[in-house]
Amino acid sequence: MILDMLPILSGASQQIDFEFSFTPSEDSLLATVYSDVDFAEPITVSGYVKNMAGYMILSADVRVSYRTVCARCIEPVCSELEISFEKDIASSEEVSSENDDYIIIEDKKLDLLAPVEEEIMLEMPSKTLCKEDCLGLCPKCGKNLNEGDCSCEKKEVDPRLAILKTLLK
Ligand SMILES: [Zn+2]
Ligand SMILES: [Zn+2]
Repeated sequence: MILDMLPILSGASQQIDFEFSFTPSEDSLLATVYSDVDFAEPITVSGYVKNMAGYMILSADVRVSYRTVCARCIEPVCSELEISFEKDIASSEEVSSENDDYIIIEDKKLDLLAPVEEEIMLEMPSKTLCKEDCLGLCPKCGKNLNEGDCSCEKKEVDPRLAILKTLLK
C-alpha cells in the first residue's frame, strides 16, 4: 500500500485517511520470520496520516488473525492480535533513510506496508499457547496431558535414591 502524500505536502489537505488489507507474501520478512504461523485471513489496517503543523504522523490500527500450533501441546490454535501504533513521518530531504525513528516519504509517496509489517513483528508473541494453563505433552510418552493424565511416573528419581535402591537389591 503506497499512499500519495501530495495532498498534505502541497497543503491542500491536513489529513489523509486510509484503509486496506493484505496477505503477507511468502517472501516477505514477516512470513519468513514466522514460518510456523499461517496468516490465513488478510491483515486489516486502518488509520490516517496527519499534518501536525511542522511535523507529520502516521496513526494506524492493525488487526491480525493467524493460525499456528500451541507451543506446549502442538494442537492447532487460532489467535488474534490487535495493534495500534503511531509513528513520525519525514521527507527524505529532512531525515536520512537510516533513521529508524521516522517513516520516510520517498518521491512524495509513503509506503505503509513496511512500517505495518515491522510493527507486527515487534508485537507478535514468540510463543502462542492454546490456553494459559496448557499442560503440554508428557515428556516421556508424548500424551497430550490436557486430555487426561498418563501412567508415566511424574517425579524424576533422585539419583542418590536410585543408588540406594540398587544397593538394597
Ligand atoms: Zn496447548
Ligand atoms: Zn506419559
